Amino acid sequence: MTQFTLDNRYPDALPATGYAHCDPAPAPAPALLLVNEPLAEALNIAPSWLQGADAAALWTGNGPLAGTRPVALAYAGHQFGQPVPQLGDGRALILGQVTTRDGAVVDLQLKGSGRTPFSRGGDGQAALGPVLREYIDSEAMHALGIPTTRALTVATTGATLERQFGPEPGAVLTRVAASHLRFGSFEYFAHRGDTDGLQALVDMAIDWHDPDWRDASASERAAALLDRVVERTAALISEWLRVGFIHGVMNTDNMTLSGETLDYGPCAFMDGFRPDRVYSSIDVRGRYAWNQQPRIGHWNLTRLAECLLPLLDPDEASATQRAERILATYPGRFEAHYNRALSAKLGLTDLRGGTDPAVGEEATGEDAELAERFLGLMARHEADFTNTWRALATDRPDSPGQCRAMGEWLGDDDALAQWMDDYATRLQAVGIAESTRQSRMNHANPAVIPRNHQVEAALDAARQGDMAPARQLIDALQSPYHPPPSAAWLQRPPSLAEVVPATFC
Ligand code: AMP
Ligand code: MG
Ligand code: MG
Repeated sequence: MTQFTLDNRYPDALPATGYAHCDPAPAPAPALLLVNEPLAEALNIAPSWLQGADAAALWTGNGPLAGTRPVALAYAGHQFGQPVPQLGDGRALILGQVTTRDGAVVDLQLKGSGRTPFSRGGDGQAALGPVLREYIDSEAMHALGIPTTRALTVATTGATLERQFGPEPGAVLTRVAASHLRFGSFEYFAHRGDTDGLQALVDMAIDWHDPDWRDASASERAAALLDRVVERTAALISEWLRVGFIHGVMNTDNMTLSGETLDYGPCAFMDGFRPDRVYSSIDVRGRYAWNQQPRIGHWNLTRLAECLLPLLDPDEASATQRAERILATYPGRFEAHYNRALSAKLGLTDLRGGTDPAVGEEATGEDAELAERFLGLMARHEADFTNTWRALATDRPDSPGQCRAMGEWLGDDDALAQWMDDYATRLQAVGIAESTRQSRMNHANPAVIPRNHQVEAALDAARQGDMAPARQLIDALQSPYHPPPSAAWLQRPPSLAEVVPATFC
């Protein structure tokens, strides 16, 4: 394959106000740093071709890409609660779509490829550190089995950028996503009072993500879309909580219609557990803390629903009622997902299988309450969010004298002994074999997550030109539910001095 042709589905589907054609800025000295070979293969792109000079158009935007007219999309959003009528792709361009081996159509997007008509004051560039963090965290998320955009390549541009902590190499990420439709895309047209634009977005989202609703009436399509997005958002946020992920910037422009995790800026996986943990340097009030995410999901969905009102019913009161009925399902849906996750974390049910016919039990509120009590103990000791659950799988709840692994995290306290008794009683009542409990727990509780101090060390090395630590970390994150070959990946930050308190975009 010497030539790569991409169609672009956005210009045909969107009104002209919704996008701008734009060419990537040429990179002065492009160099390819990372190629995601399994993803390339899943996209029917030969990794060997991707490594050649012909492919530079795909990894830095240094053309030519035959037949391709890259676009920057317009969108709006609520940033930290405040409406912003126009944001848009200020440093990203959608090159077009490819069809995966499984028949799915996905966007290829360059991030960091230069200024666009939506750049406002920004330079249109991305720094190597954040680009690499997005690669590492999004691929970790994918390996964890959680819906996410993915990373195909990382390249440096040869430019040097002035950033908060000094000069950084410029870089470009090639991102793969089910689509780049955001809650904020709808807000953009709503701000302009453009109902046709909103209808176009609904039709795109239904076509691409919920084609089973294609033939319904316009108002049914809008209602169905909201209903599906409520469900996907509830499911996604439950999954983030399960693995201790903090998105960091849950602005409505970073929320997808597809239900994929989007925009890995100042995000992090938690080490020591505190429910109100925040990692983002810009989230001074903790709006997007770990335990706020479910509530913010609901808030963001409400903003999306407001945009859809004119499509739901010509009568405003009826439209509002219809939207409210759909939005009202969110807390229950979230709780159902989260209860299932919590109960799987205790080995009481199967994360993916739902009900186990052998056991015949759904995740119950009682199980979730047991898990919440365990989280309460963890919070009191700021126990490691990942290692503590794995230790609980190793220990034998039926013989408390053997709870050594757990003791390391939760100390030797009466509340723990009481909890262990209750857990043992529950396991016995349900009749779960010890091997089943362990195997379920080890599928619901990852062993390996991208820990901040390890990610930061990999980023620092990459800035110095050494990609080996990043590659090793990416390798270790491929099988997160299995113990890694080296126990080094399970380490918390060795001392407080090495705790990374905040991440930056
Ligand atoms: P984010 O916080 O990453 O969701 O970005 C918010 C908005 O700022 C989006 O419209 C981005 O495209 C834009 N933006 C972020 N960084 C830059 C940059 N360096 N140059 C231009 N636009 C940017
Ligand atoms: Mg964003
Ligand atoms: Mg960002």
